[in-house]
Amino acid sequence: MPRGEVRRARRVRHDRAGVSVAESQARHRVLLSALPDGVLLQDADGTVLLANPRAGHLLGLPLPTPELSRPNVPVPRRAGETGPIDLSRARPALVAGVDRISAAALRTGQMQSGFTDPVLVDGQSRLLQVTSIPLLGDDGLARAVATSISPAEDPAPAPDTPPHPAGGEDIFRRTMQHSPIGIAVTALNGRFLRVNRTLCRMLGFRADELQARTLSDVVHPKDVDVLRARLAGLVSGDADTLRLERRFVGHGGMHLWGTLVVTPIRDSASHPVQLVVQVEDRSDLYQAQGLMTHMTLHDRLTGLPSRPLVLDRIQKALDRTRRSGLRVAVLQCDVDHFRVVNDNAGYEDGDEVLAEIGRRVAGALRAGDTAGRLGGDEFVVVCDDVTDEEEAGAVADRVRAAVNEPLILGGRTLRPTVSVGIALSGDPAGDPLLLLRDAEMATYQAKSRGRDRWDTVDTSQRRAAAERLDLEHELRAAIVDDELELHFQPIVGLSGRRVIGREALVRWRHPARGLMPPITFLPVAEESGLIVDLGAWVLRAAVRAAASSPDPGYVAVNVSPNQMIRPGLSDQVEQILRESGLPPGKLVLELTESVMLSAAPAARQEIERLHALGVRIVVDDFGTGFSALSYLRDLPVSGIKVDRSFTSGLGEDPQCDRIVEALIGLGNGLGIDVIVEGVETEQQSALLAGIGVQHAQGYLFGRPSPKYELQPA
Ligand code: C2E
Ligand code: MG
Ligand code: MG
Repeated sequence: MPRGEVRRARRVRHDRAGVSVAESQARHRVLLSALPDGVLLQDADGTVLLANPRAGHLLGLPLPTPELSRPNVPVPRRAGETGPIDLSRARPALVAGVDRISAAALRTGQMQSGFTDPVLVDGQSRLLQVTSIPLLGDDGLARAVATSISPAEDPAPAPDTPPHPAGGEDIFRRTMQHSPIGIAVTALNGRFLRVNRTLCRMLGFRADELQARTLSDVVHPKDVDVLRARLAGLVSGDADTLRLERRFVGHGGMHLWGTLVVTPIRDSASHPVQLVVQVEDRSDLYQAQGLMTHMTLHDRLTGLPSRPLVLDRIQKALDRTRRSGLRVAVLQCDVDHFRVVNDNAGYEDGDEVLAEIGRRVAGALRAGDTAGRLGGDEFVVVCDDVTDEEEAGAVADRVRAAVNEPLILGGRTLRPTVSVGIALSGDPAGDPLLLLRDAEMATYQAKSRGRDRWDTVDTSQRRAAAERLDLEHELRAAIVDDELELHFQPIVGLSGRRVIGREALVRWRHPARGLMPPITFLPVAEESGLIVDLGAWVLRAAVRAAASSPDPGYVAVNVSPNQMIRPGLSDQVEQILRESGLPPGKLVLELTESVMLSAAPAARQEIERLHALGVRIVVDDFGTGFSALSYLRDLPVSGIKVDRSFTSGLGEDPQCDRIVEALIGLGNGLGIDVIVEGVETEQQSALLAGIGVQHAQGYLFGRPSPKYELQPA
């Protein structure tokens, strides 16, 4: 806000409130005396005009305290009102310290901060942090200086723990946050530690984003070397302050001109510990250079925003979607066969075509959307607030239709076409560069699918696909590197609870994610075909575990449909059994209903062969599939495992009770075993025993455990 406006605003407030100057001063005094920091006001000669009680206390100079609890009581008159405050009785070391810093602020016209020697405050030896802010007149010269004094947080900072600009906690919050100047505290290497709102706004970053950067990251790359050298001079003590008029680079490559002033914060030994950075936006002063700025932000040929400005617009659109919950669409539009036009018509005409296409793209958009040119024959459109792909596709179609109007060039009529790649933001925290890259990817796709069309890449889909791919690579290695392990869960006879078998359940001991259940990686294994290797590993490991155990029960191994559709499972099983010496009767394979139903002739043959080997087949997750029962008659099935979704409803959902009862009847009728999965409570167990279930599995009898022989619970 220009200073004139500040004055006007102040006068209006003053008038409206109808507060007299004297009253207003009294209020300020009450306010000042309530501050936890000491505050001093000095004129340009260093004479102290005003001091609050806290400042008096810190300086060892008692001043009367105004009555705060009853604000209507007149504030007692104090020294500052009638004339300068006499500091002759104050602690001399402190007065010298304060004077040094406030004088520097007056001289430089910049905020200064530093520490005094340790003094006894409230019975503790403390350093005092002194921060002085010059009050400038309309001519830009310092008229007075306001100084805050507060004990540094740590009584005596160790050399390697620089005192935080604290007490600073308060002074920075109050003065920094509302300052029209961008202010930051940085480490000596320029890393941002604290930043105020103005600086964030100027550079287009959030505070946490700035805190992940250094000063060098936000100055123009060409100025980085100068800045580094000057900062080094500041830290080594060659210079007191650093002042540079420079270009800054904000989010998405946006540029602004500003004055940079850097002053070190020093410890008691005068060593710099941190830096105070001030940036004043001087872009207005460079309006004469506006044309230049425009040139860097706009494309010369079409006048459309160029890449940096487009990135900035994408960022702003993303910021807006934070509120609306909608998405941002970035459409990259690539002119088809432009090189042919260029080669035939010559560069000038080629430029003419591009300029016209630029006008058409921009003309096809809604207000608020941005058209830009990325270079060559690549245009881009940024749309805010798009709900889905279809809506973005409609924009693409409008752009395509506009571009496709006849264009007369040197007596010939052209009908240009574009291929459009659409990227939709997945989340507001999206990265403009990534969105643009995704749009580019989608354009390639549109081109390779025949041009003159649009295609899309959904970033969330893309991310999911990338994660899946990572997982696939890791899983492939895991099978070889022995990261898989088997856990075994007992299957028991309901009466007596004797263990009759154990189901092998695979786990992945992932080096970073810990023990992963099958649901997290089996789908990837199935899709990628890795299930075949994984299944072979499980089969071998389970059979070995069973063979080396004296336990008389069987081992049940899950077999995926993908293992069945390839020939060779029975050969594999035969070989593994032979190697391990496990009797075939002690191996049960669990197949899903879908395999049994779809059983292609080859799969049927495998099942028959396995049966012939003496291996038993049970149908897993029975009841969740199609429940067509014909295969139970046609295929050599020795049992069914009733899915645990029925078990959980037992005793609560009469439907579940009836289904389980019916399944028992079915099993008995066909002469096959019925195993009920997911038994968790004694009540379920009793109910099942009551309706004639003989075999069951569930947490009640034992959880999956890495030890084969663990006794049931
Ligand atoms: P499944 O074959 O139906 O295995 C039973 C699942 O139910 C196991 O989950 C087991 O831990 C869980 N479970 C057992 N008792 C209870 C209970 O009382 N309450 C509850 N809530 N759950 C119980 P897990 O180990 O997470 O396995 C999930 C599925 O992954 C298995 O279902 C199976 O289809 C598949 N799977 C596991 N290991 C393999 C394998 O080596 N190969 C193949 N192809 N699939 C496997
Ligand atoms: Mg199973
Ligand atoms: Mg099951």
